[in-house]
Order: sequence, then structure tokens, then C-alpha cells
Amino acid sequence: MIYEAKVNELAEEFGVHRNTIRNWINSGVLPAQEGPGRRYLIQWEDYRRLCDKYGREPRFMPDPEARADAPAAPHSPAAPGQIPVRLDVRASALDASPGQINICLTCGSCAGACPISGVDGFDPRKIVRMAFLGLEDELTASGWQWKCTLCGKCEAVCPMKVEIVQLLRRIRARCDRDKVPAAIRKGVATCLEKGNNLGIPKDDFLALVRELGEELARTSCPGFVAPIDVRGARLLLTVNSKQPFAEPEAMTWWWKILHAAGESWTISSEYWEGINWGLHVGDYGAMRTIVKRIIDNIERLNCTALLLPECGHAYYATRYALERWFPEALQQFRIYTVFDLLLEYLNEGKIRLDPAVQTKLTTFHDSCYYGRHSVEAFGHGYFEEARALTRACCKRYVDLVPDREENYCCGSGSSAWADPYRVERVYHGRIKARQISASNARLVVTACLNCRDQIRYSLNSEFNLNVEVQFLWELVANALVMTPPAAMEARRD
Ligand code: SF4
Ligand code: SF4
Repeated sequence: MIYEAKVNELAEEFGVHRNTIRNWINSGVLPAQEGPGRRYLIQWEDYRRLCDKYGREPRFMPDPEARADAPAAPHSPAAPGQIPVRLDVRASALDASPGQINICLTCGSCAGACPISGVDGFDPRKIVRMAFLGLEDELTASGWQWKCTLCGKCEAVCPMKVEIVQLLRRIRARCDRDKVPAAIRKGVATCLEKGNNLGIPKDDFLALVRELGEELARTSCPGFVAPIDVRGARLLLTVNSKQPFAEPEAMTWWWKILHAAGESWTISSEYWEGINWGLHVGDYGAMRTIVKRIIDNIERLNCTALLLPECGHAYYATRYALERWFPEALQQFRIYTVFDLLLEYLNEGKIRLDPAVQTKLTTFHDSCYYGRHSVEAFGHGYFEEARALTRACCKRYVDLVPDREENYCCGSGSSAWADPYRVERVYHGRIKARQISASNARLVVTACLNCRDQIRYSLNSEFNLNVEVQFLWELVANALVMTPPAAMEARRD
């Protein structure tokens, strides 16, 4: 039985001011849900409890016969034996921005757009409704938050702009830490303790960097010396620990470009990790600490620019943290995206590229963090820059459909590559695989390490794509027209 009344009617009934009624509702003294026509819906038991407390007779009593005869509606909160669900939006700790979750129309557009909707009961519309109903415990226990790649495709189609990704981030943040997938939980702990996600010892890292530098000097960049802790260098470069661990030669593509451009740059010997899984696990203290270490390195080495070269997530997490916690640092140095820096070199004639080197039909895959998420958080997505650079390195180019802001995630975003949900990750990626297949491209270029690995290793084999996958900077490094050393010296002068 529901009692429905306006604030002024309740004020008159209880002999108090309207604001007193509003305070009762806001503080939970009178549990009530806002209904149509500025009326509040109050469970009869709550109404009766308030009457008892203030010594008043209820205005009406429920009809016991009618209640006994009425069949329980399938979703009736008063069904016998069930605990009523309290419709109190303010009780939801997941609704961090009032007016967000409760504006959902339940239209289902998000569920229609989400590549994994339907998997193990996952459905973004359902998640929004559960959050609205205050079912935080059920949501954190569901595990859905780790199967979602936080790609934002759902938000892109939502007519009400409900912040579904932020909601899923809040669900991740509320999880007990022992329920966070082990790989990323350990990665964060190792990064905090040892300075990088994989715990690579300092001496091993420095020896590897020196060795790679000597190799590069021998093979393609005469005179190259890997710059470690160079004070006064303009640009600080971070490193994704996956590369020194598993694919060290991949670091040298960037080194080759920086050398060709005559850049003044350095890598720090300490806290060189650029990946920030604090964002993925919802540990914002860890996220802040990792970014603060980068700022400390920039100050120690007196740099004026920062590049997080291997991953859209690293750029997004670091810039997000800088804007949120260290806005003054952004006055001291510039944070580049890979696109900004490469285009700057190209437009200023610091590098020259030969498109004849790459003859395969080539396409570009937009990563969610450089695309949709950067639009949403920083007001600009790197769509055209990516295409300008890719086209400068190949003879034949084709776009995927859809792409840019409407692009589909590869399926491995937001730590999904490291999570234990391999089957879900591959299933998520089936749409990306279809897009690539339909484009007839033989080479896929991307600016994110996880996207590269997902398409190269998982989607290629699972969907018989048979495509080559390269980083954008790998493509650029291969297309570089290397300037003779003498000309480079003249240019530096
Ligand atoms: S698309 Fe937006 S309004 Fe529609 S169900 Fe999803 S969250 Fe609600
Ligand atoms: S962020 Fe992506 S995976 Fe997550 S619910 Fe939205 S569309 Fe689905």
C-alpha cells in the first residue's frame, strides 16, 4: 500500500513547515520516492511509523480484505515473504552526481550498442537501474565491472548522456581489493613498491637500455646513446614495463624517431613506468602517487615536456590526474600525445616520411582513450591527426566503418588484456574483427599497446584475419627518411 502526497499536504497533515517535510525526506526520517506531479510515494508502513512517532492517527487504513485477495504482482515490493525494495535514489552510494542515474529513460540504446550486452547477464541499462535502486552490493559482487572494457560506446548513443563509464568505475572502486582481478591488483602493488608494474630491477633496466642503444647506433642511428637521467633535456619519455620485459626492441622505434628529429630527450632511471593501473582498479590514491612520481622526475631533470608513448590509457590517466590533482604542474610542462609530437616533427620538417615504403592497404583503429574518452574529458579526440600521420606513411588507406567517435573497442580496453576474462574479451572483439575484415585492409595501425596485442594476437587467430598490426610510431619509424648526420648537425646549429 502506497501513500501518495505532496509536500504541502504532508506539512498541513503533520502541522509543520514544508521545509521540515523536505528535511525528513532528505535525511531518511521519512523514506519517500519522488513521483509524478511533485508527489511523493510513501510506503504505508513508513507513513504509519511517522504517525506513531508524532502521535497522529493515520488518515486512512489499508483495506485488509483487498490485500488478502490481491494476487502478488510479479514485481510488487509488497509481495508476501519479500523484503520491500526501497526506492530511495539518495541511498545509492553509486549515484555520485545526483541527476545522472535517475535521468535514464530505460530506452535500452546502451544495451543495443554494447558489444558484450547479454554475456553472463551483463546489460548496461540493468546496471544503471540497479545503481538507481541502491543495489551496490549486488553490483560489486556481479563481476560485470571487469568484463566491461569501459569503452564508452554505450554513452556515445545514450540520449540522456548518462555517465555509464563513471558509474562502472565507481563499482570497480567499491570492490573489496581481493575481488579485483589478480594481474592488475598485483601490478598496482608492484608499481607502488618497486617503481614499475612488473618489478623490473633498476640495474636490469639500465643495462637493457644501454644495450639497445648500442645496437641502434650500430644498425641505423650512428652516434646514438640512450639518454638516461639527462638533466635539462626538453622531453621526458616514460616506458610501459611490458616492453622492456617482453618486447625490448619495440622501444627503439621511438628512439629512432627522436634521434632523427634531433629531439633533446631522456628516460628516468627511477619510476619510469608510464602505465597507471590505479585508474583501472579504482585505486585513486595509487593513481595519484604514480603521477606524482612522474612530476618529480620532470622537476628533478628539469624537463619541459612529457610523452607517454605506448598507450592511450597512460596518456589519459596521467593527464586526468594532472588536471584533477596537480593543475599547477601543467603550467610547468607540456604533456604531448604521440599524435601531437609526431605531427609537430612532420609539420616543422624535423622528420621526413616516405609513403612508398608501405604498399599494403592500411587502416587505423581508434583507441577509446585517445578517442571518445579524450573528447569527453579534454574536449578533443585524436581522429584526424591519426589519419594524417598514417596516410603520410602508406600509399593506400581505408577507414573502418564506423570509426572515430563511433568506433568499436577492440575488446581489451581498461585492463581487459590482463584480466582473466579471455573468452569475454575475444567475444567483445568480434565486431572489431568484422570491421577489419570488411575493410579489406592488410595492415592495421593503432596507437595503443593493448589494442595492438588484442588485434595482433587474439583477433587475428580467432577470426582468421591474417592482418599485420603495427604501432603508429613503428609505421613512422619504418617510413623515416634518415637525414645524413652532417645535415642533422647543421640543422641543430
Ligand atoms: S541509453 Fe541512456 S537513457 Fe537509454 S537505457 Fe541506457 S543509460 Fe538509460
Ligand atoms: S563501456 Fe563499453 S563494454 Fe562497458 S557497458 Fe558501455 S559499451 Fe558495454
